[in-house]
Amino acid sequence: MTLGILKEAQNENRVAVTPDTISALQKLGIEKILVEKGAGERAFCPDAAYAEAGAEVVSEKDVFGKADILVKIQRMTDAQLKQLRKGQVVIGQFNPLWEPELVKPLHEAGVEAFSLDLLPRTTRAQAMDVLSSMATVAGYKAVLLAANHLPRFFPMFMTAAGTIKPAKVLIIGAGVAGLQAIATARRLGAQVEAFDVRTAAKEEVLSLGAKFVEVEGAVESEAAGGYAVEQTEEYKKKQAEAVHQHSMNADVIICTAQIPGRKAPLIIHKATVEGMQPGSVIIDLAASTGGNCEVTENDKIIQHKGVTVIGDSNLPSTMPRDASSMFSKNVLNFLKLMVKEGKVDLNFEDDIIAATCISHEGEVISERLKQFMK
Ligand code: NAD
Repeated sequence: MTLGILKEAQNENRVAVTPDTISALQKLGIEKILVEKGAGERAFCPDAAYAEAGAEVVSEKDVFGKADILVKIQRMTDAQLKQLRKGQVVIGQFNPLWEPELVKPLHEAGVEAFSLDLLPRTTRAQAMDVLSSMATVAGYKAVLLAANHLPRFFPMFMTAAGTIKPAKVLIIGAGVAGLQAIATARRLGAQVEAFDVRTAAKEEVLSLGAKFVEVEGAVESEAAGGYAVEQTEEYKKKQAEAVHQHSMNADVIICTAQIPGRKAPLIIHKATVEGMQPGSVIIDLAASTGGNCEVTENDKIIQHKGVTVIGDSNLPSTMPRDASSMFSKNVLNFLKLMVKEGKVDLNFEDDIIAATCISHEGEVISERLKQFMK
């Protein structure tokens, strides 16, 4: 059996499989691993490193023509979709909840496609969870980006020139990215406060040395599988007021609040931004789904009345070495579910295989995607 690693488009620095995972893939019984020429270059994984690890460096045409399983992070271009062969397995992070129309060409090509962003957030799926891996990178990088743009120090300094107070950082949403942002801001010496609608987040926030800001009346649902749910209008109003108050003292706000498959909740209104101290920085990680902040522009850095607002949607691409390495380990763990004795063995009774499958014999198998498409 042959596995093919494809090169990403010019605006993506990561690669789906790194050379350090090749030997573990071979141990699964995968006889041949083909990598597209230059696939890992921007992630600092040169072709020679793949060759040394036992992979073969070939053209894109050869990867499409010879591989039984294809791996790629971002969705394919039209030209790539045309090269797919019936029965081929395709694995990536295609975000079909945002772009459900992308499943059509996969169905037409007759491929078996799996989108890792649809993995359930269960203990068993943790080792494959690319969303958590990438949110870890994004949460960390968001704080560094904020520190870089802030015209002040993060830590407290006692110097001969006087005492400098530590920066105040407000984190909206204490999920994977938010918790990583708290930990990173604390390591840099900032004072950190965090908001979340899930009560389970409180303990985690406190354990990282941050203050948890509670707004009473949040709606939670066990059926949401650990994710947040849409809040009532009354709660949203109360939360916006509390966020406004805490924002007035914040030097940095990192926004990470999300409800999967929905537009990001709007939490920081324009008036709040306009009330912040000049020089403050907002990093909105939810920019690609509308943003948690009213003035965010996706993939742009803007100044709004003296406040810098950054809406960078692909921070993992700015740390391509470790982000790729984490993605690669996640792919390896996923492949363990479908490669048995060197052969592709798709077991749709397996909840993880079923939950991630967006194309099988021309149909969507993932229940979650089916519901969204309805
Ligand atoms: P997550 O689901 O683990 O965390 C989101 C958190 O937001 C949850 O704890 C949830 O309870 C909380 N939340 C939801 N609604 C809220 C509200 N109204 N008020 C306060 N908290 C609320 O998600 P994650 O994996 O940490 O990702 C967070 C965000 O970062 C997502 O929007 C994701 O798309 C984005 N992201 C961005 C990048 C990037 O490069 N910009 C990379 C990875 C992830």
